[in-house]
Amino acid sequence: MIIILDLKLLKQEFIIKIRRIAYYLSREGFLPQKISMHEEVIITNSKEETAVLAEKLAKDLKGGDFLAFYGDLGAGKTTFIQGLAKGLGIEKRIISPTFIIMRHYKLPKGNFYHVDLYRTQSRHDLLGIGLDQIIQDENNIVALEWSEKIGDLMPKKRIEIRLKYLDDNQREINIRKYE
Ligand code: ADP
Ligand code: MG
Repeated sequence: MIIILDLKLLKQEFIIKIRRIAYYLSREGFLPQKISMHEEVIITNSKEETAVLAEKLAKDLKGGDFLAFYGDLGAGKTTFIQGLAKGLGIEKRIISPTFIIMRHYKLPKGNFYHVDLYRTQSRHDLLGIGLDQIIQDENNIVALEWSEKIGDLMPKKRIEIRLKYLDDNQREINIRKYE
C-alpha cells in the first residue's frame, strides 16, 4: 500500500479547521474580540462646561452608539445628557427620566433614548421596556444612567462616561471609547 501525503494540502486543511474553531469560539464569546479603547479625563468647573463638553461629543455620535453613564446622584449624568441632546439638535428640554425610566426623542435620522435605571429592580424590567431591542437598533443613540444595572445587555462597543464630584462646581469626567 502506498500512502501519498500531500503536506501542503494537509497544512491548508489544518489552517481552515483552526480558523473555523476560532470563529465558533469568538462567536460564542470564549475569545476576546479585538476591541480598542481610547480614554480621556476632563475636569469641568460648572454645569455649563459639562454641557458644552457633551455637546461637542454629540457631534461625533451616530446611530447605534451606546453611552453608559456611571456616577453618584448629583454627579452630573443628566446634565451631561442634556448637553448631548442639545448637540444632537433636540430642542425639547431634557428632564430627568428617573421616575419614568425611559424617554424617547426623534432625531432627523433615527432616535435618541435617555434611559435611567435608578429605580429598576431586575433584568425583567429591562426586557419589559424593550431595552435589548432598542440598543441593537442601528437607528438609535442610547444614553443610559446607572449602567451598572444593565448586566449582560451591555454592548461591547460603547462609550463609558464616569462622573465624579470634586466640589460643588467641579466634576471629573472620564470618557472611555471602546470600539
Ligand atoms: P445626576 O443625573 O448624576 O444625578 P444631575 O445632572 O441631575 O446629576 O445633577 C448635577 C447637579 O450638580 C446639578 O444640580 C448641577 O447644577 C450641579 N453641578 C455643579 N457643577 C457641575 C458640573 N461641573 N457639572 C455638572 N453638574 C454640576
Ligand atoms: Mg440623573
